[in-house]
Amino acid sequence: MRDQNEARDPPGPPAADRGWFQQRPQRIAGSPPLGPQRREMPISPPSRSRTSSPALTSRPASSWSSAGAPSADPDCSVCRGAGHYLYDVPYGHPHFGQLQRCQCLEAAQVAARQAVLATRAAALTTQLQAELGRLQHCTLERFDPHRPLPGSVEWDGKAYTPAEQRKSLLWAYSVARQYEPVESLYIHGSYGSGKSHLAAGILHSLAARGVAGRYGSAPALLRLVRQGFRDGSADDRLEALMTVPLLVIDDLGTEHESGWSEASLFDLINIRYLNDRATIFTSNDPVEAHRDERIITRINGTAQIVTLVAFDHRRLGHVAESA
Ligand SMILES: [Zn+2]
Repeated sequence: MRDQNEARDPPGPPAADRGWFQQRPQRIAGSPPLGPQRREMPISPPSRSRTSSPALTSRPASSWSSAGAPSADPDCSVCRGAGHYLYDVPYGHPHFGQLQRCQCLEAAQVAARQAVLATRAAALTTQLQAELGRLQHCTLERFDPHRPLPGSVEWDGKAYTPAEQRKSLLWAYSVARQYEPVESLYIHGSYGSGKSHLAAGILHSLAARGVAGRYGSAPALLRLVRQGFRDGSADDRLEALMTVPLLVIDDLGTEHESGWSEASLFDLINIRYLNDRATIFTSNDPVEAHRDERIITRINGTAQIVTLVAFDHRRLGHVAESA
């Protein structure tokens, strides 16, 4: 049970100070200017009908709202739309002359920030969906770490039992759910284990929080840059991939072997590394299997390595049919 007095008394100066508020406000030289027509505020205690208003007689300060900025509630019983108010206390009181920000203005600012974030998140998600293609439905919510695991899977010279696969699924899933784009991630493991799904799911959940991310398989990203040679936009395209807050390079190791591909891929990974930007790699190969020693060094030096070995989810339907 809450204390009755506590429940009745909204936040404000201690009860001992309440006597101050029965005095008529005085405009004291040096105090912040008051808004026109708001100088002569009533001194009677404010209505208790609105629980959000503090039990203080207050004088609204001049309105600071400007065009486009979140504005205070014109019907607010505390500030009457000014957004700020002053306590009616005489000179010498600790609250004298202290401009108070009204709760209604703070609420409006929070709502405005949320609206901006929602708009940004929607735009990022739309852009991401186009880039994800067949993975556009791969959210973390749709990832099932408890899916059936009908048999052993061999990867990198080792056979993984269903119990070991379950462990790796649960671990990879929990890493993905807790992922923050401050570190890189290297998810390697067997074909069809769900690596790309997890990477796409991370992009989705970060886009919903307003964090921009881009996705492409290593060959597709290189193709994207190469296509820019036609109109001279290759450098801009590479730059965009270098600077996006989060980049997913899916299927690392499946790109064509060529001097240009290798150099461009290393540039991309290296510049992101040097600028502390997070990259999520997925690969069917262990880190050491990659050709470029410099890429191995960059990944080993910065990325959390997650092994995801699990029965190919795309084959599960066939197993069920034949069983
Ligand atoms: Zn207000």
